[in-house]
Amino acid sequence: MTSAGRVLVLAGCLMLVSGAASGAQSPALKVILITLDGVRPAEFFGGMDSTIAAYPDSSGIGDSARVWRSYWRPTRTERRRAVMPFFWDSLAPRGLVVGDPDLGGRATISNTQGFSAPGYLEILTGRAQPDVTSNDPVRYPHETVLQFVRRRLRLGRMQVVTFASWENFRTYVSNRSGDVYVNAGFDTVPEPYNSPGLARLTALQGRALPSWEGSRLDAFTGGLALEFLQQHRPPVMFISFNDTDDFAHQRKYGRVLDAMRSADQFLRDLWRTLQSLPAYRGRTTLVITTDHGRGLTPSNWTDHGRETTGSAEIWLAVIGPTTPAGQGGGLNATQSQVAAILLRCLGLDPADFSAEAAPPLPGACSR
Ligand SMILES: [Zn+2]
Repeated sequence: MTSAGRVLVLAGCLMLVSGAASGAQSPALKVILITLDGVRPAEFFGGMDSTIAAYPDSSGIGDSARVWRSYWRPTRTERRRAVMPFFWDSLAPRGLVVGDPDLGGRATISNTQGFSAPGYLEILTGRAQPDVTSNDPVRYPHETVLQFVRRRLRLGRMQVVTFASWENFRTYVSNRSGDVYVNAGFDTVPEPYNSPGLARLTALQGRALPSWEGSRLDAFTGGLALEFLQQHRPPVMFISFNDTDDFAHQRKYGRVLDAMRSADQFLRDLWRTLQSLPAYRGRTTLVITTDHGRGLTPSNWTDHGRETTGSAEIWLAVIGPTTPAGQGGGLNATQSQVAAILLRCLGLDPADFSAEAAPPLPGACSR
């Protein structure tokens, strides 16, 4: 063999190795879906809600002075910036934010349940799924938008990835086991995709003990997702956080606000990472939303479900290179539209996914 021939063989081997690690060719456009479980429009758009925080017992706020000092401000705009400064200063001005009642907008779920699994299946399949009536770790028969994207763009299994705090996402993300990669609960990252950074976070996540055993803390979910993104550059990611819902069920209002603040710090780290990588900079759409709202009163803000008014109220943000800035104010949206938004932001035709799925939001990824 000539030396030129050896170089060609060597180059071919290197391509095979990198192909095994990063899958098929990457599409030009990328999307990252991020969910914050059970965050009410009240806190998302208005920050700290004084009608809840005013009551130590029903808010469950421990250190009242700290929470009020951290989050109370004279105006609604300042209050939401105190909770999620990066989102409101750096992301919101670049895209659509839908569901602010003060601007005449409304974003709602279409399912009748008002809790997590029906919300996530609605997000992932583009419509309310009446067979999803519990939070059990069931594998449903519906193809998800994640599976469709992988099939349509001929992506590798490790190019359409989910990092979720809640372990039940293992069955929610696809109707067939293993179709798309999911790392949920206290999962480890398989070889050859593991790295020293991923292994370190994986080891630590098992030692940080959340009060609820079915979910790891969001700091680990976000840390693993960011590390995986830097290592393997997946074009489609779903990152699902859970701390906000856990603290709300525990009636710890100050901690709900703290968890939103932590999620905002993750958004900042994610955005800066995306800007540092040519594969993502100027090509990536973030879609940020929640699975359900919650009750509206000092006693029932902790709860959600069919019987709890407020559970259907959500919010939705689309930030990316093909979405015009600043037009979400008066729009209405449903949770079912998220799937079509993801598809359109990847340059795909949502009609090819499902005839029953909701259409995309006007304006989202329309440039
Ligand atoms: Zn939930």
